[in-house]
Formats: sequence, C-alpha cells, structure tokens
Amino acid sequence: MSFLEYAPAPESKAILNLRDSYGLFIDGEFTDGGGKSFTTISPADESRIAEIASADEHDIDRAVAAARRAYEKTWSKMSGRDRGKYLFRIARLVQERARELAVAESLDNGKPIKESRDVDVPLVASWFFYYAGWADKLDYAGLGANPKALGVAGQIIPWNFPLLMLAWKLAPALAAGNTVVLKPAETTPLTALIFAEILQQADLPAGVVNIVTGAGATGATLVRHPDVDKVAFTGSTGVGRDIAKAVAGTHKKVTLELGGKAANIVFDDAPIDQAVEGIVNGIFFNQGHVCCAGSRLLVQESIHDEVIDRLKNRLSTLRLGDPLDKNTDIGAINSAAQLARIRELSDIGEAEGAERWTADCVIPEKGFWFAPTIFTGVEASHRIARDEVFGPVLSVLTFRTPAEAIAKANNTPYGLSAGIWSDKGSRILAVADRLRAGVVWANTFNRFDPASPFGGYKESGYGREGGRHGLTAYLKGAAA
Ligand code: NAP
Ligand code: MG
Repeated sequence: MSFLEYAPAPESKAILNLRDSYGLFIDGEFTDGGGKSFTTISPADESRIAEIASADEHDIDRAVAAARRAYEKTWSKMSGRDRGKYLFRIARLVQERARELAVAESLDNGKPIKESRDVDVPLVASWFFYYAGWADKLDYAGLGANPKALGVAGQIIPWNFPLLMLAWKLAPALAAGNTVVLKPAETTPLTALIFAEILQQADLPAGVVNIVTGAGATGATLVRHPDVDKVAFTGSTGVGRDIAKAVAGTHKKVTLELGGKAANIVFDDAPIDQAVEGIVNGIFFNQGHVCCAGSRLLVQESIHDEVIDRLKNRLSTLRLGDPLDKNTDIGAINSAAQLARIRELSDIGEAEGAERWTADCVIPEKGFWFAPTIFTGVEASHRIARDEVFGPVLSVLTFRTPAEAIAKANNTPYGLSAGIWSDKGSRILAVADRLRAGVVWANTFNRFDPASPFGGYKESGYGREGGRHGLTAYLKGAAA
C-alpha cells in the first residue's frame, strides 16, 4: 500500500544533443574505430541510444602514440600553473553542462536522476577543481622536491559511476603532468564521449586525453601496450588479478581499485532512525552498484528485530522506476548480465537457508529491474555474506559484543569500506582502529570528498585515489 501517490515528474531529454554514432577520441578528434561497433542502450527500457566505435590494436597504438607525443611536446613542458588552468576550465564546463551530463548519465546507466544530478556530476566538478588546485603545488605536497610525472597512463573504468570514475582517474593524472588513454565500460560510454566534447571546448591540447571505447579486449590491449607507463584500473577483482599478472615484470606502475563487501555495524546505542537511513543509503544508493556498498549489515542482537522492522517500513516507501523521474529512488540495473548475477546470488542465498524479503514494488515491463531485497538469518559461510552481489541486496548478520562485530566485519577477503553507528565517540574510534578497511564512516555512509583518500585492503586492491595520496600514484619516486 502506498500512502502518497506521486504524479510523474520526468526530467526532459530535450537538453541532450546526442549524435547517432560516436567515434573514438584520439589526438583531439573523433575518429573511426577498427573494431566492430556496438550500441549502447538505456537499461530502463532497452532502447538504443547511439552507436559506439570499438578500438582495435591499431587504434590503441594510435592513441598511445598521441598521448606520448602530447606528453613530450606539450604537457610535460607546461608549467603546473598552466595545467591547472585547463583543469579549472574543465571543472567549470562540467558545471555549465551539469544538467545535460546528469540526464545522459541516467539514460545510459539507469541510475536515478536525483543521484546523477545531486551526487555524481557535482562530485565530478569538485574532483577537477580540487586537483586543479594541486597542479602548481606539487613541490609542496610532501612528495619530495620537484616531483616528476610518470608519462602515459592507461586507465580503465567500470559502469557504475561512469563519469565520476573518469574524473577520479583523469584529474590527478593530468594535475601531476601525465597524459592519458582512457577506456570507459562497454555499457556506459556516453558521458565519457560528451566529456570529450568538453575537452575540445576547453581547448585542451590534442593528445593529452584520448578516449578509446570498446569491450574488455580493448582494455586488455591497452594494459599490455609497451609504451604505457602506468595502469590505473577500477573494476572487478578477477580482472584486476589479470592486469596485475600482465604488468608484472614490466616498468609499469599499477593501481587497482577493486570490489568490496563492506560491513555496516549498528550498535544498540545508535540513533535508530538515522541508522536506518544510513543502511538504506549504504546498500540501495545506485541500486547497490557501489564497490564500497554497505552490503553486510551487522546489527547488535538486542535491537535486531526493531531495526529490521523499521528498515522494511522504510523500504516500502522507496519508489522504483524511470531513472529520469525526479521522484525515483531506485533506478534500473545496468545490464542484463548484472541482473542475471544478482538473481543467481539471491537464489543461492535462499537455497542456503537465509530468509528473503522483497519490497513490494511494481516492476516495469521493459528493462532490467530488481526490487530492494533483504536477507535475514544470514551466516558468515553463506555466499551472500561473502560474494559481492553488486545489486540492491542486503545481508543481515548479528553480533553481541564489539569484539564479535570486529571479527565478523573483518571476516571477508575484501577491505574497501565499513560503517559504524553508535552514540559513543570512544567506541567509534576504538572499533574503527581495528577494522581492516580503507574507509570507515561513522554515523554516515557513502560520503565522498576529493580531499579524502579512498582505496582498499586485501582483495579490494592497492593504491589510493583522492586527496594528496591520489597524486602519489601518478608521480615518479612517490610510493603509490
Ligand atoms: P570489470 O568486468 O572488471 O570491468 C571493469 C572495466 O574493465 C570495464 O571497462 C571493462 O570493460 C574492462 N575490462 C574487462 N575485462 C578486461 C580485461 N581483461 N583487461 C582490461 N580491462 C578489462 O568490472 P565490472 O563488472 O564492469 O564492474 C563491477 C566491479 O567493479 C565490481 O566488482 C566493483 O566492486 C568494482 N568496482 C570497484 C570500484 C572501486 O573503486 N574499488 C569502483 C567501481 C567498481 P567492459 O565493460 O567493456 O567489459
Ligand atoms: Mg548503456
């Protein structure tokens, strides 16, 4: 039963000025690709958005050569102050075209417009503003005197935050004086290509940033190119492992940002309503397609039933549907393949004995959808407690003491993030100290700031993005 009926409030697509097909962006221009082109679709209704070129080996060669030329002739010769000016210009253009970028992102990815408009795109601008500020201050970053860029960076990003991951990769690399060849994910290339138009608008020298679309093989070719000095990858742990193998024994530096299975720990003294909002934000933000999602709820046994009751009530008010509708809370699952994986792991959860509850929402006829789902009675050995679902699925476990909470939280091959909910500052600090996770949020979740480093322990990868730490991954001599 729904208490409030909302009239549709769709954001208009009229602001988009899409082309019917997009080429590769190499040496400052759009060019044809040698591989077989593919279509990108909207996961909300499976409609075609545009035809996208695919880069083959020869195209990767051209892109790396363009990046090398730009590095030697322009970018490495330019002062930090001048590089900074370009980055500030890009940041301002992102702000100017924010609405267009948000609509394109929601269309191509399926995420709710309120998230792309209020979270993704503003963070993209702030990432460029932040690193623009560093470009002329590298000498004062505590990384040694006169630190030097690495050269050409090959960067590969996933589909869950297409434009934001592009910003996380490009901004520090460019501020540090590197040039780039970037490969977006196959299902979400659109905003990277609109961003290429922004680079033209900003008059960024040709070849400083090259964008090569294509599938996994395009990424693999880029990683293996002998003239790439640095590989930066965000994606699954499996592909991360392949990349680490491929670059072992070469001169290439690597940073890997991989998967996660974060614990969100709720103590009995936590403000429950706030914690419930944090649990919802932790796992249902961006349909749970978040590497640092709070996918394992660890709730103190004495408040378990109350928390779960309130959580179910809250989930019953979430609206699932058209990503471009301003009232939508839960958008579409990004691809048929991802939906199949979420369904498979959820079925395994049920088969292994956990209790499944699903919010009662109307699933649209077309497109890829999965209603918010909670599993209670989950045990540490269950697949849904161990594997990354990367979808709107929460696994609930309980604990009795802080020591048990810490042991359970750390009982995972991953270590990207964690959350703690408690009224007691001393408890928060003591527990945070013992969690093996790169980011620990207290009484909040999924907060991002360009000044704050982000990255993993264990199978969540190595290297840090964001903050001063994020620069070290793109400078010689500085520890990554
Ligand atoms: P994925 O398969 O690893 O893909 C990530 C990127 O790598 C895509 O651009 C993909 O291209 C490309 N790729 C695929 N195979 C490759 C290969 N052999 N060599 C080089 N590149 C290759 O991951 P996904 O399933 O798209 O993304 C979800 C995963 O990413 C989750 O596990 C999530 O936790 C992780 N993730 C981590 C972070 C973080 O910051 N730690 C952030 C976001 C996501 P195609 O798309 O064309 O296949
Ligand atoms: Mg798409």
